[in-house]
Amino acid sequence: MAMRLRHGAVTHEGRIRPGNEDALLAEDDLFAVADGMGGHVAGEVASRIAIETLRAERDAGVVEAIRRANRAIVDRSSSNPTLRGMGTTLCAVTIVDGGGSPLLQIANVGDSRAYLFRGGELHQVTDDHSYVGELEREGRLTREEARAHPQRNIITRNLGDREDVEVDLFEIDPFRGDRVLLCSDGLVDEITDDAIADVLRRTPDPEEAAARLVDLANEAGGHDNITVVVVDVVDDGSRALSASAALAGDPLPDRQAPAPAPADETATWATIGGGATRPPRRFTWRVGVFVALLAAVVAAAGAGIWWVGRGTYYVGLDGDRVAVFRGRPGGVLWVQPTLEERSELTIDDVPRSSEKAVRDGQEYGSRAEARRYVRRLAERSPTTTATTTTLVPLTTTTVAPAPQ
Ligand code: MG
Repeated sequence: MAMRLRHGAVTHEGRIRPGNEDALLAEDDLFAVADGMGGHVAGEVASRIAIETLRAERDAGVVEAIRRANRAIVDRSSSNPTLRGMGTTLCAVTIVDGGGSPLLQIANVGDSRAYLFRGGELHQVTDDHSYVGELEREGRLTREEARAHPQRNIITRNLGDREDVEVDLFEIDPFRGDRVLLCSDGLVDEITDDAIADVLRRTPDPEEAAARLVDLANEAGGHDNITVVVVDVVDDGSRALSASAALAGDPLPDRQAPAPAPADETATWATIGGGATRPPRRFTWRVGVFVALLAAVVAAAGAGIWWVGRGTYYVGLDGDRVAVFRGRPGGVLWVQPTLEERSELTIDDVPRSSEKAVRDGQEYGSRAEARRYVRRLAERSPTTTATTTTLVPLTTTTVAPAPQ
């Protein structure tokens, strides 16, 4: 798995805040941004624990490392009253071996963001775990309204809150030319996605791009700490195509909502990536149950239609001959009646009072009952003298619906 990344990373306290509660990690193939919160130094402590634990526990996988970081923060704040209530966001990107080819994994808790810049377009990968982020996903706020909303700082999920935390995980097949941007809200509250995309288009060097983005946020006010990490895919190993070639004709990777997590895990899985989308790696138990139920309903409906269509008999006409059919007059959906036995009676032999019933198809639950009816018709026939009627057994053949 040969894959080369280049990166640039900058964190800045901004122009208003007295200190920097953001923290970042940028080494080898693991990158992260954490935005701490809490009184006094607590926010700084939380974001630092998150980054240090992520680095120390990375071999456990990015999702598990983030869970351990969460527990470390919970433990620390419960043992130290001055740190009570501290928390942090954590947004990380790493590379794993995705079965012979490299795979980018992006894991997130909170409202720091990961974006994918591909084919000249910027796509937000992560969901913001914030009050306005939820309203925006529900279509109740536009992105611009969310950016200006007075409650935009309400976080709905973060590390440090409780013993266990749900971690969103996104997987992307990387292409040469891809850029992943990690940032804290101090960037996106100050400048728009369009402005960010513009910098990424114009600034090929990742260090320069990161520095430029931080500068723009400060120029726009610098109301919060600002952290930016730009990770560039310089070499994608075995994959020869560049992102722009791979995406020709399909420039926008489709964003897919995270799928429900399997019952035994809290990680959320999703894939992103246009021409690079890989099939879902697993089938959640909910999907399995749904498919099984759907199959059962289809089978039951099919059996029901078959029974209604084939489980009954009727006496009707085959041409002008009185005959026993299996099925329903006219058929049921695709299940057509079949001619079972033809009698020697014609419609002219049928008593006038029964003529309509025979033309419409007189239904019975069994072949024996249908035969008895044919015998009764023969006995009451105004034209024949026969007291018995021969039914001629026929092989089962699909015939046109009985004439109505
Ligand atoms: Mg912040």
